[in-house]
Formats: sequence, C-alpha cells, structure tokens
Amino acid sequence: MSDYDVIIIGAGLAGVTAARELSHAGRSVLVLEANDRLGGRVYTADRLGVHLELGGNWIHWLQPHVWAEVTRYGLGVDRGPKSEETYWIQNGKVVKNDLEGFLKFIDPGQRKLTEHAARLMPRPDLIETSKAFQEADKLTLQEVFDSLDLSDEERDANECAWVGHCNGPLDEVGYSAALRWTAATAGEWTTMHTATSVLRIKDGNNTLVDAIAADGAAEYRLGTPVVSVRHSDDNGEVTTADGTVITARRIISTLPLNILHELDIQPALNLIKRAASEEGTASKGLKLWIRVKGPIKPFFAYSTQHHPLSVIRTEFVGEEDAVLVAFGADIDRFDFEDIEQVSEALKVWRDDLEVLEIAAHPWGRDPYARETWLIQRAGAYTRSQEELRRSEGALHFASGDIANLWAGFFDGAIESGLETARNVNKELG
Ligand SMILES: Cc1cc2nc3c(=O)[nH]c(=O)nc-3n(C[C@H](O)[C@H](O)[C@H](O)COP(=O)(O)OP(=O)(O)OC[C@H]3O[C@@H](n4cnc5c(N)ncnc54)[C@H](O)[C@@H]3O)c2cc1C
Repeated sequence: MSDYDVIIIGAGLAGVTAARELSHAGRSVLVLEANDRLGGRVYTADRLGVHLELGGNWIHWLQPHVWAEVTRYGLGVDRGPKSEETYWIQNGKVVKNDLEGFLKFIDPGQRKLTEHAARLMPRPDLIETSKAFQEADKLTLQEVFDSLDLSDEERDANECAWVGHCNGPLDEVGYSAALRWTAATAGEWTTMHTATSVLRIKDGNNTLVDAIAADGAAEYRLGTPVVSVRHSDDNGEVTTADGTVITARRIISTLPLNILHELDIQPALNLIKRAASEEGTASKGLKLWIRVKGPIKPFFAYSTQHHPLSVIRTEFVGEEDAVLVAFGADIDRFDFEDIEQVSEALKVWRDDLEVLEIAAHPWGRDPYARETWLIQRAGAYTRSQEELRRSEGALHFASGDIANLWAGFFDGAIESGLETARNVNKELG
C-alpha cells in the first residue's frame, strides 16, 4: 500500500498544474518543493517599488494553455508603457528613432531568418520528425545569421533582438529555437515578438501559481528537496534531504532539464535523457531589473550580442523613477550586482541615466534551476525531444522544458503538466 497515489517533485507551473488535475481526478497527491515558496521559475517579488518578475514575465492569448488559466481564474492582464524612443547602434554610433523604425530596420533580416519556420514545423504542437527540420536543427542561430546576406549593422541589430529571445550566446543557441518560436505564431516574426514580450498578469505571475495550487486537495510540502527516486513499473519511493522516505504509485519529476541528471534515480535514467541534461541548455543569460531616476520617457534599446546588456526597456514608468528590464547573453559577462558596472553598461546607449537600485535572481547559479528558460542547443531537439517526454516505469516527467508548443514558457509548463497528469491518471486506472 503506497502513501499517496502520486508524488510530484517540484511546485513550478508544471507541478501545480499536474497536482490540480490529478487531485480533481480523485487521486491523493503530495507535492514536494525544494524552495520555501511555490512557483519555481515564476518568482514575483515586491522589489524596486513594484511587483517584480524575477523569473518568467509575459503571456499572450496566442499561448493557449496559459491564457485559458488566466480566463479560468479571472486574472487581470496589464502591459508596460509603449516605448516612445528606441536606440540602437549603427556604424558604431547610437541611432535614436522609434520602435517602428527599429522593427522596419530589422524586418528583412528577421524575415530571412524565419521564412521557413511554418514550412519546417507545420504542427509545432506535435513532435517534428521531418528530414528537412532535422537538417535545420543541426545549425546554430549564429551559423544561420552568418549565412544571411546582411550588412554588419543589420546583423548587430538582428542578432541582439534574438539575444532578448534566447538568453544565450548565439553560437550556442540552436536554430530550432527561432523555428519553434516562430512556428508557434504561424510563421509571423512580428506576432511572435509581441506574443513573447508585452502582456503580463496584473497582480503578479505568482497569483496564477497560487490560484492553481489552491484549486484541489493536493498536499504541498515546501523546503523539502528530494534527493533520490527509486521506482519499478508499479510504484516508487522518494527520499527527501532529511532522510524521509515516502511511497507512491506514480512519481512525476518536474525538474528543469539542466538539473535532472543530478537527481539520484534508480533504475538509472535513460541515457538520452541523461546526455541531454548533462549537455545542458543554451539558456545561460541574465535578466536584470534596474531602477533609474525619473522622470524619463519610456524607451527600448538594443546594442549587440557581445555587450553585457543587449536589450533593455522601460517596464514601469513613474514621476520620480522608472524601472527598466534588461537582458544579456551571459550571466558571467559582468558583475550585475555592482551598480557601477550596470551604470557603465547603460552608457553604450545614453549617459543620462542615474541607477538607483538593481534586482535579479541568478538563475544559472540556482541549484534548483541552473537555467533561465529552455533554449535548446543545435541538434538537441532531434536527439532528445521525444525521449525526454517518455515515462520510465512509474516515473513520469513534466516540465516547460519538454513541452511541444511553447517550450520554455509558462504555456509549455501548463501544457506538459496537463498532458502528464492525463497519462498518469490513465495508468492508475
Ligand atoms: C528570467 C526568466 C524569464 C522568463 N521569461 C518568461 C516569459 O516572459 N514568459 C514565459 O512564458 N516564460 C518565461 N520564462 C520561463 C518560465 O518561467 C518557465 O518555462 C516555467 O516557469 C517553467 O515551469 P516548470 O514548472 O516547468 O519548471 P520550474 O518552474 O523550474 O519548476 C521546477 C520546480 O522544481 C523544484 N525543484 C528542483 N529540484 C528539486 C528537488 N530536488 N526537490 C524538490 N523540488 C525541486 C524547483 O525549486 C522548482 O520549483 C522565464 C524564465 C526565467 C527564469
């Protein structure tokens, strides 16, 4: 007799979604979460005078799973201020224009980069196995940019728009990232851009996690890292860091891909899964919040992929101050906790900004994440996507990192939680 029908490891969006579904199906569910808070890579903190999203930020109605949850719980949706100025770098000089001007400037490059997305991935909600896609998946985003006929200035601007999306050095990012994101918006790069970076949940993204976790009768234990999993075809047991052993008929791991191989699992994890986890994702970048003295006009700014900060924009604007969100390709490129270094990084565009405070969570160094949002390396999709989603005995997997449609997003985490819960419930009979 097992203690629970299902144990879920991790209370991020995939975990809470699976817990709700299984609880609604009448299963007894225990969720074990290493951190002292729910949410995982959804991490809303009251900092810099606002609800600050240290983790995932934006949602859109083109992301069907997350939008359905927003509707279900009646959550308000908001957006940041529209940019009135846009800065980018051309011939080593800063150009000041409006956002439309920038989008027009990068349009030819973005079109060339993404023109085959809808053809190569006609159904991004399913696993793509065509030869044409697999050939494209062998390339890095950098290799594809290098093959496009772009001037140096166009290249800098086009590349750094993708650092904002991919959060990693482009020579480590698989071209599949651009294909998958654009295929999810039926091949339209501007729609993809909007769908991934404008709308946010008004009272903080943690309100979504809290609403899902409160819905159903699953039991949650916070501050309880799981250190090992043992399983057979019919049941399993987990051991927590304090040595407690708990049994269940099924176990669901929602661990981020980069730390999956660190968990002691017996029988040993399938070799393809293990290799994918050891290789790691390309998501090694930085998301940084910066409060500056106001008043300033809302703005957007792009530099190059080689700068510490490639993309920056105002997300909150007040009379006295403004809060900017910034992205860089590599968390180790500069000391993002040092106000001096951050001020220096902003000078690539303008030297009139006075930095008051900064806030960030170092996801790449967080032992329970070690990555920001899923961005696959070249060939990783072909090598591992199908296997990563496959259960092993009583052990199942759910994660935004292994979703099909919007992998690396809230939407993907919910998709994966729903799907895995359905499979587990079916197995339990
Ligand atoms: C900086 C940043 C910006 C992002 N921006 C966006 C965005 O704008 N829009 C968007 O849709 N998505 C965004 N994302 C991605 C999105 O946040 C994630 O894809 C999604 O939240 C992942 O959910 P998950 O449940 O799969 O994984 P996680 O949220 O990582 O959940 C896994 C859980 O497992 C726990 N855990 C790990 N190890 C153990 C253990 N041994 N024992 C017990 N528990 C354990 C972790 O603490 C965590 O709570 C962003 C992510 C980051 C980090």
